[in-house]
Amino acid sequence: MLEIQSEDFEREVLQKERAVVDFYSTECPPCEALAPKFEELSRLYGDKIHFVKIFRQGNRELASRLGVSSSPTVLFFKNGKQTGEVLTGAIKKSDISRHLDSLLSADEQLVVHARIKPVQSSCDVLILGGGPAALTASIYLAQAKLKTVVVDTGLAGGQVSFTHKVSNYPGFPDPLAGYELAYRMTEQAKKAGVVMRLAVDVTSVDLNNKQVIIDDNETLVAKRIIIATGASPRPLNIPGEKELKGKGISYCATCDAKYYQNKEVVVIGGGNSAVEESDFISRFVASITMVHQFDALTANKEAQEKCFANEKIKILFLHEPRAFEKKEDKIITLVEHLPTGEKKQLVSDGVFVFAGMRPNLEMIKEKIAMDEWGYIKTDDDMHTSIAGVFAAGDVVSKKYRQITTAVADGTIAAMAISKELQ
Ligand SMILES: Cc1cc2nc3c(=O)[nH]c(=O)nc-3n(C[C@H](O)[C@H](O)[C@H](O)COP(=O)(O)OP(=O)(O)OC[C@H]3O[C@@H](n4cnc5c(N)ncnc54)[C@H](O)[C@@H]3O)c2cc1C
Repeated sequence: MLEIQSEDFEREVLQKERAVVDFYSTECPPCEALAPKFEELSRLYGDKIHFVKIFRQGNRELASRLGVSSSPTVLFFKNGKQTGEVLTGAIKKSDISRHLDSLLSADEQLVVHARIKPVQSSCDVLILGGGPAALTASIYLAQAKLKTVVVDTGLAGGQVSFTHKVSNYPGFPDPLAGYELAYRMTEQAKKAGVVMRLAVDVTSVDLNNKQVIIDDNETLVAKRIIIATGASPRPLNIPGEKELKGKGISYCATCDAKYYQNKEVVVIGGGNSAVEESDFISRFVASITMVHQFDALTANKEAQEKCFANEKIKILFLHEPRAFEKKEDKIITLVEHLPTGEKKQLVSDGVFVFAGMRPNLEMIKEKIAMDEWGYIKTDDDMHTSIAGVFAAGDVVSKKYRQITTAVADGTIAAMAISKELQ
């Protein structure tokens, strides 16, 4: 693998039959997560594809000429022409190998794949997830001298990384950007000696034998496992939602309602959380238009009565959202009246979506005790129904899901495990 400057680009990339380029920056967590994977892949594919690294800040003109505007960005070239997708953000090893394979013939692919050997390593505690619950647990465990590995399918920080501002986490008198809190937690864990395996594919999880396979060929064996994979808001899966998430579309009233002082917002949903959260949001905003698919709210009676008595809330029954769009600083919500199919646009300053949450547990195949909504049941030590398996944070069955409650769970799980293992 070669580190090059702009002036070498023609010779080292464009004149090569096949090349892959990693534009990286310093102080860039996703670049740090990518570096070992890029190096490992260069050992596997390096005799067939030219591997190149370019420091983006030091080669700005070249980067902007190639349309590279964030780090890391991985580009692929064949006979001097850029080919395939542009990879950015939390780049997985499998994403790069898929593109590398596409540069090779079928025979060459077989040769390279034959080189991949299964790897196995062991640790005291493996934590699935890298959000606040996981990071807190990992800090306690590493400080107790237990070998701890954090495995996340994305980058560390969890939902906090995507939170605009956090103003209720103790120790920070001024609102703090979510990504900064996530960064501080991650750095603290790394300083404590926690091993981070970020942006990996979790191939399989065997809770009974405490074995997790990542990126297809790497088996991690642990004495204890903590499941801290969090929960995700149930998306509506309609056009514009993904693009505007965090840029006008929010899934958390506690976090974001205060940014809409005297503004107009749309709330999607009519169940308990939509109705209760709307009551909270109404303390800040000028008006709320609630969009609900049924002809009556599905929240409990008391919440409904409060909602109907709230002059700031108007409800559009029998309507469903179809698409979101941003026009200047307004969000346009396209809604459909279900009985007639008539469509209209709602113009607002922001949208809150309360279509429910779902725990991130798709990778768990074993039978583990859960509540009726699919969240993991634990005892007071955060121990689950499977011996040696703990759970912490939003994935756990409980009433309130916040950063502080997640870090509390992580603390308890770590202390219980430390006691067991020492
Ligand atoms: C928009 C928004 C704003 C919020 N604002 C606030 C706020 O201001 N204050 C507050 O206290 N709380 C806030 N919350 C809630 C808070 O973020 C969560 O309660 C908290 O992050 C939960 O932490 P966690 O570690 O349990 O899970 P998460 O933060 O959800 O982290 C889980 C991690 O697990 C990873 N993961 C998922 N599946 C797998 C898998 N199969 N294998 C490995 N890893 C996996 C994810 O990539 C993620 O990094 C907000 C939530 C949202 C969505």
